[in-house]
Amino acid sequence: MQPDTIKAQGLLRLLTQGLLAHGEQKTANELGDRSQYIGMSDIGKGMECMRAAVASKLGLSAIPAATAVGEFAHEELGRVLGRQIILQRGHWQEYGIEKALTATGVKLVPQLEISIEHNGVPIKAHLDFTLVWGGKRPAVRILELKSNERIPASLYASYEAQLYGQVGLLKSCWAQPCFSVPQTEVQSVTFPQAIQSIFNVALPKLPDGVDIESWVLSISRSEVKSFGPYLADMGMLEACLQAAVGIWRTTEDVRSGSLDLNDLDYCRGFHPLCDWCDVNADCPKFQAVNIPSDSACGLELEELAMLKERKATLEKRIAESEERIRQTYSLIGAKDWISTKDHRFRVTTIAGRKTLDRSQMLDKLTSLIGDELKAQTALEQCEKSGKPFERLYVSKINKMLKSAA
Ligand code: SF4
Repeated sequence: MQPDTIKAQGLLRLLTQGLLAHGEQKTANELGDRSQYIGMSDIGKGMECMRAAVASKLGLSAIPAATAVGEFAHEELGRVLGRQIILQRGHWQEYGIEKALTATGVKLVPQLEISIEHNGVPIKAHLDFTLVWGGKRPAVRILELKSNERIPASLYASYEAQLYGQVGLLKSCWAQPCFSVPQTEVQSVTFPQAIQSIFNVALPKLPDGVDIESWVLSISRSEVKSFGPYLADMGMLEACLQAAVGIWRTTEDVRSGSLDLNDLDYCRGFHPLCDWCDVNADCPKFQAVNIPSDSACGLELEELAMLKERKATLEKRIAESEERIRQTYSLIGAKDWISTKDHRFRVTTIAGRKTLDRSQMLDKLTSLIGDELKAQTALEQCEKSGKPFERLYVSKINKMLKSAA
């Protein structure tokens, strides 16, 4: 290896080590020992996949310890670094968003912790940001940040469960000494006491009459979208608490050996959680026919996975480049072609795709025919289904390691 390449590798190794160490410290400082309680993200995960939630409570993780970085081969280093960048991007955004919101003068508590025990199960919620307004119209807003590669069209069920759990706990525990702010003197107090002590703002002793909402800010590299409001709903809170008890008891059963991880229920069908799952390597969902990796088929599959990864990277770069060129085109006020030595470029407006709004169509037909059933039948008779086609899924196997924590 060239000396410069060795130096560059050393830099990446240092960065990877730092990211892993920082992640470990941040989790310990803000979230404590996660094996000792059920958090809101565990509940969200457990509602989608019990196997994944229990594995995470057991400390089964594909994230290596910072001290292991020195032993990584080049490829392993790149894989761990890439994953850390994606996982920790949310923390960096959190820092920036906190500064931005604080600059507006709003009263904001970061990382408020609500801690309760339900049917003998310790449960904690960590609220990214809690914004408060006192006075005649007291209000509280919980903000949960989600760092997304692409902004989802609607919120994932696991996120929604988290939100309902958070806002439900805030309201139901309002007057109980369940609130703390990690690494401060605010420990085990009621919510009004916490706010009084942090901001010297008086809130009502009971939450009735306080305007309480929970929101999600989904942030990608260039877009932000808010989802909400989510209001306290005691039925949803009860569902969250029951899920927490289920995860806790099942984790105890697996720990004691009376159940095996692979006996647990897991999410069926295609699910985005699986690509990021720390225990996807031996998940029964993917009971696979193992093919030797040096066989012709094994090599071709690996090559396909690599090509798909490259394609995804290329598509992202192309989209970014197109966006920049479109902006430049508009900035220079170009109306026609612009040329370089070998290519010409032009931005034109293309008419949007025309689609039929099915429910509007049904309403229209019903009003014309005067019979909804007949309108529905007519619509169904005009529908065409495409031929079934095969789709090849490629998903990453995450190596399962013992957690560093
Ligand atoms: S791989 Fe998917 S189905 Fe299996 S445990 Fe993980 S999230 Fe659940």
